[in-house]
Amino acid sequence: MTEHIVIVGAGLCGARAAFALRGLGFAGSVTLVGEELLPPYERPPLSKQTLIDEPEPRVIAAGDDYRSAGIRLVTGERVDKIDRAGSRVLLSGGEQLAYDRLLLATGARPRPFPGVAEGSERILTLRSHADAATIRSRLVSGVRLAVIGGGFIGLELAATARRLGAEVTVIEGQPRLLSRGVPAEIADVVALRHKAEGVKVLCGTAIASLAEEPDEVSVQLADGRIVRADLVVAGIGAIPNTALAEQAGLAIENGIAVDARLETSDPKIFAAGDCCSFPLALYGDRRVRLESWRNAQDQGHLAAANMLGDSVENPGVPWFWSDQYDLTLQIAGLAEGASTTVRRDLGEEAFILFHLDPEGRLLAASGIGRGNAVARDIRLAEMLIAARACPDPASLASADTKLKKLLAA
Ligand code: FAD
Ligand code: NAP
Repeated sequence: MTEHIVIVGAGLCGARAAFALRGLGFAGSVTLVGEELLPPYERPPLSKQTLIDEPEPRVIAAGDDYRSAGIRLVTGERVDKIDRAGSRVLLSGGEQLAYDRLLLATGARPRPFPGVAEGSERILTLRSHADAATIRSRLVSGVRLAVIGGGFIGLELAATARRLGAEVTVIEGQPRLLSRGVPAEIADVVALRHKAEGVKVLCGTAIASLAEEPDEVSVQLADGRIVRADLVVAGIGAIPNTALAEQAGLAIENGIAVDARLETSDPKIFAAGDCCSFPLALYGDRRVRLESWRNAQDQGHLAAANMLGDSVENPGVPWFWSDQYDLTLQIAGLAEGASTTVRRDLGEEAFILFHLDPEGRLLAASGIGRGNAVARDIRLAEMLIAARACPDPASLASADTKLKKLLAA
């Protein structure tokens, strides 16, 4: 009998998994189900090019590619239930799909700002192409934009909105921007640049209330100030989509809990991408959930291989980037547990911070600079991290010492 693999969630991870199954020679049937109307597309452009000059979604594969790979792509349908006893899923349109293996690649959704009704005209979030299209239609020159949250969404959107001539205020509850996972020294560079570009940056500022009036939103700050805006976008974090897995009784731990092979507590069901938490061997099997493009892409491949019976473990060094103005920041590894930070200046204000643990092992590297100024060294740092290297701090600090040489050592 033909084997059937069903993938829930037609985002980057789900699409990569579907094509990887074919690449690995799986000859059974593959169905990819997504609740969005569009075929799988890239999200990184949504806070950048999509708002400027690239309104069409950047699809991961053309329609013909699904057909020629024999992947059935079902869009605009939600998987409402997993029937584990019957090994099938129930779709919102009424169809039932039997599975031999099931992959949950359900991603994450924006954390809503407390008290804001769904469907608000002026208080929005950004996750989907449809969200970006709505924001794009409002981001005209002179519009007053208040961004809640000085994380990645908020800051990338602020940079894009300035380029489009909006008046931008960023309101962040923490004392500084990018407080999650980005070192203060790098966040300071980002904050200075936003201010130089004319963004009003308010950190350590709680919001008391949001009042949506017919022609504006009044953002009442806890310190009594009021920010008036035509448009408010909240970028206050993402929540993993675990409802389906929870309802099916799968283990949940800051996301759908999987092992190093991405298998859930049910051996027929795997989970991958933004929705899952997994143990990372490189960091003592610490359980992490990553919300980044490369992780979604890599885990799509990994899940495909393991659903076919392989035993490949997550090898990766976490890595992500963020583009704001002409600056790119890149972070490889996890800096928690670091006791020493070493700075390497690369010229033209670009620099990398290397984070070492008390034994001298390189745990992470964070860099910022114009364009791809830090890309090469971050890539080499990633290899040093993967090799669990303990490079000499003085050599790390000196741009005269090639990281390649440290890697060879
Ligand atoms: P998602 O992309 O969230 O896809 C999951 C899909 O599953 C969604 O389409 C959802 O509708 C669907 N789904 C959920 N539940 C069901 C269900 N029950 N039935 C059917 N379908 C369902 N990362 C970086 O590293 N660098 C960047 O510069 C960067 N920029 C970004 C910019 C924006 C605006 C956003 C939103 C994210 C950005 N990211 C970036 C993060 C990166 O895009 C995500 O980590 C990645 O998209 C995660 O992929 P995923 O497939 O796991 O989840
Ligand atoms: P984020 O990076 O977690 O940042 C959210 C920020 O908002 C945090 O600093 C958070 O502080 C703050 N915040 C929370 N509640 C607040 C409040 N009530 N008032 C003011 N500030 C508040 O999340 P995000 O920027 O919303 O991004 C969402 C998702 O998109 C994530 O999955 C992210 O990885 C992804 N994304 C990634 C990139 C990239 O990697 N380049 C770019 C865009 C989007 P606390 O820590 O106190 O909660």
